[in-house]
Amino acid sequence: MERRQLGSYEVIALADTVQSYPATAVYPAAEDALAAYAAYLDATGAVALNFASFLLIGSGLTVLVDTGWGPEFDGQLPAEMKAAGVDPASVDVVTFTHLHGDHTGWNFDRGTGARFFANARYLVPRLDWEHYAAQQPPSGSFERDMRPLEASGRLELIDGGHVLAPGLTAVPTPGHTPGHTSFAIDSGGTRGFVLGDVVLTRIDAERPELDCSFDWDHAIAHATREATIARLAADQSLVGASHLPAPGFGRFRVEAGRSSWQPA
Ligand SMILES: [Zn+2]
Repeated sequence: MERRQLGSYEVIALADTVQSYPATAVYPAAEDALAAYAAYLDATGAVALNFASFLLIGSGLTVLVDTGWGPEFDGQLPAEMKAAGVDPASVDVVTFTHLHGDHTGWNFDRGTGARFFANARYLVPRLDWEHYAAQQPPSGSFERDMRPLEASGRLELIDGGHVLAPGLTAVPTPGHTPGHTSFAIDSGGTRGFVLGDVVLTRIDAERPELDCSFDWDHAIAHATREATIARLAADQSLVGASHLPAPGFGRFRVEAGRSSWQPA
């Protein structure tokens, strides 16, 4: 759990868990390129992914972006929220960068079936809802974590440009999934950006043209990754990233045409 202040918003990074994946599985077409990134891998050639959610507290609202992998993966989101002094019942809005299962895991209590964030509205990117609601066969995490929201009366579908609160806006960043959405903060002359999975690791921060096996559409993902890195490097937004090393705060730098992730 780590906090940063961005204008009138407090941004709190919550780490649910960490898992390692062979880099050759994440970037299957890039075996040669990976040799240059040994510093970002462990001795077995695996890259460790953090699984972060971000709390945004400001404008009279407590907003949670993404709800982690959940209890099946020894998720620590409830403990992290407790450490931050934030009661799940006080969360006003739960929203999602996208609907992969590592971002929706704590929506419901597995024991009681109750919504874990009992009083929240759930704002869901429309294009991801439409994609996963129609998928055959259905994704297990969508049926478990998302589908039951339909009957709860708490589900609201949002589009790019949706203003959640003054200074907090949804930005379409498609490619990882059809409706992938980031959240831009603009407050008191400072900028922040909850990135989601536009950039997954320090490797694709430096090589945004690499195909990542978790991306839905490689061409769209490349274009979004390159444009987003350029935008965030230019305005020096403080970025909260889902899977970069904990706590996941950093900035992008572009120097002599080369991009990189700088933890901050
Ligand atoms: Zn993810």
